[in-house]
Amino acid sequence: MTLRSQNIAAANIKNGNHLKAYLQSFGVRINQFVERRKGGAGPAEGITLILNGRAVTVPVTCNFASKSPYAIQYKSGTHTLLENGSPLSEVKIPSPPHFYSLKTKDGIPYSKIALLHGSNCLASTVFQKCIYWNSNKRCTFCGIELSLKSKATILKKSPQQLLEVAKVASELDGVQHITLTTGAQAHSSDEIHYLSSCCSCIKSGSNLPIHVQLMPPADLKLLELLKKSGADTVGIHIESFDLGVLKKVAPNKAEKGLKYYIKAWKEAINIFGINQVSSFLILGLGEKKDSVFEGASLLSELGVYPFIVPLRPIPGTPLATHKPPHPDDMISIYQQTSTLLKRHGLSWRNSKAGCVRCGACSALPDFEDE
Ligand code: SF4
Repeated sequence: MTLRSQNIAAANIKNGNHLKAYLQSFGVRINQFVERRKGGAGPAEGITLILNGRAVTVPVTCNFASKSPYAIQYKSGTHTLLENGSPLSEVKIPSPPHFYSLKTKDGIPYSKIALLHGSNCLASTVFQKCIYWNSNKRCTFCGIELSLKSKATILKKSPQQLLEVAKVASELDGVQHITLTTGAQAHSSDEIHYLSSCCSCIKSGSNLPIHVQLMPPADLKLLELLKKSGADTVGIHIESFDLGVLKKVAPNKAEKGLKYYIKAWKEAINIFGINQVSSFLILGLGEKKDSVFEGASLLSELGVYPFIVPLRPIPGTPLATHKPPHPDDMISIYQQTSTLLKRHGLSWRNSKAGCVRCGACSALPDFEDE
């Protein structure tokens, strides 16, 4: 073991939250015995493991993961996390949920309708195409149509299919909340009407809280329809506050402009309440360091939870060969932002549903609890 890795090990053993940041930045080497996601919207790719009782998503197929100092070894029913070949910590790799083995009444595998995220979140991309996918306005970090191409999912999930899977996943696998996302459509009102019909149907047969992720709609009043239909929280994701970088990695978002995002967040806060609105902030897109804390400050002042995540380069996307930031940079921004959240009375604990409540893709909730 090198001196550098000994230092890493010492830091990790001292603090499990730091280990989470290291794993998400360096990835983990695995064998074929571990199930993994290969695409999808948002920070797809990787496996979920349970570390110190909490779900953590970690990259495994990204280029850089093959050079990671971390690996998982399976022996006599136990998974051990190794660092440079030395045992570091026991981890759990959850078995595939029971609902994955079932099919809908019309013969579609439940796993093509929705997936288990983290330890208890059911997540579905209700419409798996995006109008920007084949254009120069595509978000370069997103893999939404890759899983459609590989037939791991279907194009459109009906509200009834979502309800069917939600009920069974809740009964068999202890699902406690739902995340619904969608690719952008030509008219944002179509997006919201469809998401609303999914929310109403799910709420007609279950009490599960629902998180909806969407682009800021042209008519912001439509957010009320989502709320009335049963959505409990919303994610309106700007991804980066470095607007030069945003122009390159998510031109369609940059085109909407920061002012419009602020208007949308304010409207969403009026409708859903403080702490029930969030925005992803992806680190590692080439952004200026200061832009992250400035963005997190702006969001926190509005009552929006800044969900900070390291870049997860998905194989098959334009950013496939990029690397996440160094874990020490992630740790630094997590520490600064958790102080900010406390000052503004925001916490993952108060979020009713979605990524903020799940927390598997970010170590921010863990740093909040330090
Ligand atoms: S934080 Fe969000 S994207 Fe990540 S596993 Fe949880 S629900 Fe899925």
